[in-house]
Amino acid sequence: MRKLFFRRALLPQGWAEAVAVTVDDTGRITEVESNAQPSPEAETVAGIALPGLANLHSHAHQRAIAGLGERSGSGGDSFWSWREAMYRAVARLDPEDFEAVATQLYVEMLKAGYTAVAEFHYLHHAPDGRPYADPAEMAHRVAAAAQAAGMPLTLLPVHYAASGFGGLPPTEGQRRFIHDLDGFLRLTESLRAAYAGRDDVVVGIAPHSLRAVPGQELQALAAATPDGPIHIHIAEQTREVDDCLSHTGRRPVGWLLENLPVDGRWCLIHATHVTAEEVAGMARAGCVVGLCPTTEANLGDGLFPAEDYFAAGGAFGIGSDSHISVSPVEELRWLEYGARLTHRRRTVLAGGPDRSTGRTLFETAAAGGARACGFATGALAVGRRADVVVLDDAHPLLAGRSGDAVLDSWIFAGNAALVRHVYIAGRAVVRDGRHPLEDQAARRFTPVLERLFA
Ligand SMILES: [Zn+2]
Repeated sequence: MRKLFFRRALLPQGWAEAVAVTVDDTGRITEVESNAQPSPEAETVAGIALPGLANLHSHAHQRAIAGLGERSGSGGDSFWSWREAMYRAVARLDPEDFEAVATQLYVEMLKAGYTAVAEFHYLHHAPDGRPYADPAEMAHRVAAAAQAAGMPLTLLPVHYAASGFGGLPPTEGQRRFIHDLDGFLRLTESLRAAYAGRDDVVVGIAPHSLRAVPGQELQALAAATPDGPIHIHIAEQTREVDDCLSHTGRRPVGWLLENLPVDGRWCLIHATHVTAEEVAGMARAGCVVGLCPTTEANLGDGLFPAEDYFAAGGAFGIGSDSHISVSPVEELRWLEYGARLTHRRRTVLAGGPDRSTGRTLFETAAAGGARACGFATGALAVGRRADVVVLDDAHPLLAGRSGDAVLDSWIFAGNAALVRHVYIAGRAVVRDGRHPLEDQAARRFTPVLERLFA
């Protein structure tokens, strides 16, 4: 049992002063008291406490190529040409390299204010496409990196079976990703067994996309997975929508909603290209939409119709996906800016008159991210894990700010590093902006990158 004391905190009922949070030995909050007295047994934490925010979509290996896709080719650079470049770069990552990259990434995420990550993990096999002696080797490396960094992990092994609709055979660049259904089910079984009983790891599944998993296989997979989160990339690119239409007669999201039992376990990543009917269908189904605005912008995907989806009561969370940015602030800001540029208005996603855009975005993303990751987090409330992001209230950017203006200033003007401390399960993993592993992680990461791109 331990106690944390915050001078200011965002609770589900709103901003509160002098907040004492009691945390049990498992890291769960057992009591939240506002207008409390600082007591000698409580750890007094300077700054403004916010609930933790999950990063619901990550491909750790892509951290190795962040920023390397910006040189123009001979014309027609697209998501698909970026993907070829990504395949080439990661073809040589071995398990040690991969763990080094993931560890660096998770340290960066924690310092930026993410307090959980859903790893959409598809780099399964050796560079020649053969499984490692333990087929779960690379997945265990993800888990080891997360554990070393102190990052709660939703491990989503990816099922990848085809290179396109109609069960097209995988390409050479995809050979590290591929399973048959039985092999994939064995992998998930072994991961569930390995991480059973761990509070900081949730195992789910991720059928890669409708183009990579044939429909019947997707149905069989969902039926064989009684619990845990199910994440899928969907309708990210217009070409995918066109291919889906020509193979099934339906658009991707429409097809998914009609053919799978989509509910609160499901997280639909991107869902960029959707009709009004599909928007309403996703909100009704109760799934979470995983939005990754900086990656979607970087890859030229398009804009998700956030205003309509939020108005329909749809849940969402944010992900850093390709890690072109590892900053929750940038994701939330660009979500709103995409809507502003579309509608030529301001405060589009504030959720009604006289509301703070930053607070609405932050609280909704925290709730949706927690659900998509399968963790009881995302709010400073009894029963939730004590995951807390503490902003530096002494920073000039927050001078004269109180209440919702803190979140608005952080999200819309916060290019400075305002995250001062980060607590996971009631224990500090980032203190005064530093992670204890950051130097060591960088020393391991740098030579891997130098060798990869030599
Ligand atoms: Zn992705």
